[in-house]
Amino acid sequence: MKTFMSTRTQDLAELSFPHAAPPAPGTVTVVAPGLNWLRMPLPFALDHINLWLLDEGDGWTIVDSGLETDETKALWHQIFGHALDGKPVKRLVVTHFHPDHMGLAGWLTETLQVPLWCTQTEWLYARMLSLDSTDAFVKNSLDFYWRTGMDNATREIFAGRGNPYRKRVSPVPHRYRRLSDRETFAIGRHEWRVVIGRGHAPEHACLYCVELDIMIAGDQVLPKISPNVSLWANEPEGEPLALYLASLAALKREIPESALVLPSHGLPFRGLHRRIDQLARHHEARLAELEAACAEPRTCAEIVPVLFRRQLDAHQMGFAVGETLAHLQHLVTLGRMSRGERADGVYTYRQI
Ligand SMILES: [Zn+2]
Repeated sequence: MKTFMSTRTQDLAELSFPHAAPPAPGTVTVVAPGLNWLRMPLPFALDHINLWLLDEGDGWTIVDSGLETDETKALWHQIFGHALDGKPVKRLVVTHFHPDHMGLAGWLTETLQVPLWCTQTEWLYARMLSLDSTDAFVKNSLDFYWRTGMDNATREIFAGRGNPYRKRVSPVPHRYRRLSDRETFAIGRHEWRVVIGRGHAPEHACLYCVELDIMIAGDQVLPKISPNVSLWANEPEGEPLALYLASLAALKREIPESALVLPSHGLPFRGLHRRIDQLARHHEARLAELEAACAEPRTCAEIVPVLFRRQLDAHQMGFAVGETLAHLQHLVTLGRMSRGERADGVYTYRQI
């Protein structure tokens, strides 16, 4: 779930990428001894997700699972057939609830008879969203998007999708093993520490191994695009951007610049602190742009084209609106913007 806000060429030049190309579908690339990289396709503008296989000596840990599609399942069978050296999978770790990460958790844990490890909030979100097929879910979304001032045709597209999460995940396991912030656990001979990130997802687990100096970043930090930070209909007064920026600062304290970062999208890279600084600057620039655009009261729908200048499909529009709202909400928190309400209930934003 990202909005494809691309990174400037000079920003990419500040990072180093030890692997020039990703593994082909159904194959693995070794990024460190006992740590293999594979890719699964995604049928969106964002066309892939990176997953990780960690050798435990007598078995494997899988990190993240891919979207629930027949194509991804077939690729998993290829991996099982030739990339596991005849050893069993012992557990599945999922970084966060988004469908490209949690999508096949139910299928993998059932097929392989292994436990799911993830944080409590991510498991609860996955369970909750995968089970909600009520009309009230759609009505709540329609109310939320009404306040943005978007036209009825666009709102109807959102309503027509119902709850899209349900369609992209296999049944989420009924039980899980909890990962907690700062907990360490062994994967084979190495200790890995859980570092929680917020703002992109509620309790996103990153993993860091001191010995290998490797970070499995999930979507918390990505090299080429800015992770989506959005307001959603279930928490319309939330402040995800404040949470995200605080998490970036914490990651910088907890994980060294030298770490090899394994992101869920794009290529493995070095330059974590530089990337964190770039992301923080990116959001500050967006905040300033929005502030300047609201000299007069504006609705969210009027402001979306300021942040997103290209044509967006329906899938991207949901993220674009959510991301714009997250920035507007943060400006309100900072006292740089005020939020008003028109007689019809639509919110307007004006710089202070
Ligand atoms: Zn995500």
